Amino acid sequence: MMQPENQRRAYLRAMGIDVWLPRDSLEDEAAPPDASVNVSPAAMDWEALRGSVSACTLCGLSQSRTNTVFGIGSADADWLIVGEAPGAEEDRRGEPFVGRAGKLLDEMLRAIGQRREDVFIANILKCRPPDNRDPKADESASCRPYLERQIELLRPRIILAVGRIAAQNLLGSDEPVGRLRGRPHELGGIPLVVTYHPAYLLRSPSQKNKAWQDLCLATRLAAEYSA
Ligand code: SF4
Repeated sequence: MMQPENQRRAYLRAMGIDVWLPRDSLEDEAAPPDASVNVSPAAMDWEALRGSVSACTLCGLSQSRTNTVFGIGSADADWLIVGEAPGAEEDRRGEPFVGRAGKLLDEMLRAIGQRREDVFIANILKCRPPDNRDPKADESASCRPYLERQIELLRPRIILAVGRIAAQNLLGSDEPVGRLRGRPHELGGIPLVVTYHPAYLLRSPSQKNKAWQDLCLATRLAAEYSA
């Protein structure tokens, strides 16, 4: 049963009349804090992280997405593949790297003895930018803690950055892929290799040879890595 004073305030508010109250009473009325709201991704397990991403409104892409694309694969994966952002089909299905580019990525993985279900595949952004435009700096920054937590939870032996956006974001560089690929990098002590995005390889099949060299380099670095 509502107390008379609270009932009066409710009526006044319903009529659009501001009710000024002493600070103490405001605190009494405040809803109990939702513990999940203020928890940093850095403290989350996989389930909490997935839930947080699916409810995320930290950047404007939350307004236009159909589904968040958390990432897919094994929580014990040695390989982490990082792409750019979901496209139209990924946004629709909630899964990264589907369609022709996804199939080519699967073939590239098979060539080095890996299956999609054995690696983990994620993106710099968990939500699709409209018209497949490049991610904006503030969107990448807002989304970064989720990927960082995924890396912490996975502790992969190798990170493969596919395409310019992933490579430049992860390495904090503005160099083109052509200059970043073909040599070892590291992220937080984990070896990182840059290669071409499968969508680019579909358009420029003559570059597949270089992508193969990158995969061989990544395979060697993963084998040599000891955490
Ligand atoms: S892109 Fe990342 S930060 Fe932006 S709403 Fe989606 S999950 Fe949140």
